[in-house]
Amino acid sequence: MYDSHQDTPSQLLRLRDPGIDNNYSQVDFPKLKKGGVDGAFWALYTPPDYDPSQAESYATRLLDAIYAAAARYPGAAAVTISPSEAAENRGKGLFSIFIGMENGLPIGNSLDKLHSFYRRGVRYVTLTHNADNPIADSAAGHATWGGLSPFGREVLAEMNRLGIMVDLSHSADSTFWDCIKYSKAPVIASHSCCRALCQHRRNLTDDMLRALADKGGYVGINFCPSFLSDSFGKGYESILDEADAAEAAFIADPADASRIEAWHRAQDRIASVPRPGVKEVVDHIDHAVEICGIDHVGIGSDYDGILIAPEGLDDVSAMPLVFTEMNRRGYSKEDIEKVSGTNLMRVWDRILTAI
Ligand SMILES: [Zn+2]
Repeated sequence: MYDSHQDTPSQLLRLRDPGIDNNYSQVDFPKLKKGGVDGAFWALYTPPDYDPSQAESYATRLLDAIYAAAARYPGAAAVTISPSEAAENRGKGLFSIFIGMENGLPIGNSLDKLHSFYRRGVRYVTLTHNADNPIADSAAGHATWGGLSPFGREVLAEMNRLGIMVDLSHSADSTFWDCIKYSKAPVIASHSCCRALCQHRRNLTDDMLRALADKGGYVGINFCPSFLSDSFGKGYESILDEADAAEAAFIADPADASRIEAWHRAQDRIASVPRPGVKEVVDHIDHAVEICGIDHVGIGSDYDGILIAPEGLDDVSAMPLVFTEMNRRGYSKEDIEKVSGTNLMRVWDRILTAI
């Protein structure tokens, strides 16, 4: 099984030991093994409010943390830069760490920086996070460029030339359509769901899903409850401001017992919002397959990047439940293999052979 998006590097920087199965992680090597996950893109996520030089040094720290984790556990995992290497690792029982960059901000205004991240193993770039950047507009941005910037067009061409996958999760719709138009290679959405089922702006419309498939691309269905279910999203959002305010008040004066109580009450209310589960994840897979066809859909769980996981899918060790549900709904073994990873590997391979 291959997952197109996990946020584990951010957790590694919090000094989490990936070799230990503990209660606080959604992803670690023991849980990946239990979940039958053979490889995943680990994201170099940089916050959208950083300036480009801060983002570059932070992304470099994340890269260092990935290489340190692989060096510490050579019997468990290896940094991997191609589908063929992944197949070799799988034969040896090693988890393949693929490296994606989530937010192109560390590239700044320099193709040289793109080259140096490529040399250190970055094989996809999610063009934006939740703000416009020098490359392109974000789904949560202010339409700074109306899609790709002029520099973004250069980045896109260079990514095509190097064989770095263009990841359009988090992009504005305008950026998405620019990349469909100008990319010479298939493009992907590493961790997004279907807007027809959940209105969130991070999700893809049916027209976008169709265009992605027509271009030979890939969508990895995200497990984030707010992207799976409108009713969860509304319930959660309505409490979030209150919870943030309660937390800030508590931090300002931790000795005030009434503030601690208010903070706990807000946490309890968040925990009481009914979460979507395996059924909703597979509903999004069903819809994406209906629109894109079975060859263009996979899983981009976003584990370690989502604060709240779906009901029953609390961490990556539960991954097989998704495929059990697909089997129950009548998907063939071959189709389940496609969604559980061979589609991602095939699309990546095609992008590499296109150069
Ligand atoms: Zn993301």
